[in-house]
Amino acid sequence: MKKVGIARALFYYYYYPLWKTFFQEMGAEVLLSRETNKLTIQNGIDLAVDETCFPVKVYYGHVQELCRQNIDYLFLPRVVSIEPRSYICPKFMGLPDMIKASMLDLPPVIDMVIDVSINNKMLKREIERIGKIFGRRQGNASAAYDHGLAELEKCRALSRQGFTLREAVKIWEGDPLPPLPGPFDLNIGLLGHGYSLYDPVISMNIVHTLREMGCRLYFPEMLEMEDIEREAATLPKRVFWTLGRKMVGSSLQMEKDPRIDGIIYLASFGCGPDSMIGETIERKMKDKVYMLLTVDEHTGEAGLHTRLEAFCDMLRRRRSISHESYLSSHG
Ligand code: SF4
Repeated sequence: MKKVGIARALFYYYYYPLWKTFFQEMGAEVLLSRETNKLTIQNGIDLAVDETCFPVKVYYGHVQELCRQNIDYLFLPRVVSIEPRSYICPKFMGLPDMIKASMLDLPPVIDMVIDVSINNKMLKREIERIGKIFGRRQGNASAAYDHGLAELEKCRALSRQGFTLREAVKIWEGDPLPPLPGPFDLNIGLLGHGYSLYDPVISMNIVHTLREMGCRLYFPEMLEMEDIEREAATLPKRVFWTLGRKMVGSSLQMEKDPRIDGIIYLASFGCGPDSMIGETIERKMKDKVYMLLTVDEHTGEAGLHTRLEAFCDMLRRRRSISHESYLSSHG
């Protein structure tokens, strides 16, 4: 049985159930890299160019680990666009080239192009091409892909209920439902690219820490897509990065939600879209307290913990004093 390696990073968080199902139906065994750890990060830093963003550096570390696992193929798609008229950032598009240029001992790479910016004809062709690699007849691969989409939808239904994308994937894989966290006295909107936010090492365990501090968390995946798009469309210019638009739309929608006390945006160092989106959200916030946190390989968990604690204390104090006597967050 052929072994296909998938890195537990970047779009793993958004699409793993789809690709695992697809490759299994192609008759392959899917191997994942381990959870991110200090060594993954160090290996990624050593391999990647300095200018790369933190999550891409981490991706390099995962790929290196996979290559040591004796895999037959490395699944390394070139993700250009996952929805019409929108694009994924250039670092995603160039990922197969960057990895191939830095790592010379790679196994055969399945570097299919995912680009549905105009229509999904190219994606269908690519799916059938991958099917041929595994000796499948015309149509088999498309059916496997459709089955993968159905599995992905199960996972997305879990994240709509409040599980993080990471928790949803684990439940989908058969783990028992985690105990419900709580009790909570604060409601926080927590935003960020899924591969940063839900990777406990990249995000310094922000999800767990905030829950421990008594915060019920609202994630972008819990919102309706129509609401996100409607709010994002209020900007004077359309944000053409898929994740960036989702972050802006989610923050504006959360700002209107009377249950939410404050909003935190977790950005990654070296991320071009984040540097603009984080600032755009800050300017748009009128009634909610907002905090932008940027993480990189040098961020210390203790420093982050202190900032989160101060943020929660501030929200509780604002709530305890009368409405007339505090200055609004925007002056
Ligand atoms: S959107 Fe930002 S964090 Fe994500 S891959 Fe691109 S540069 Fe990196």
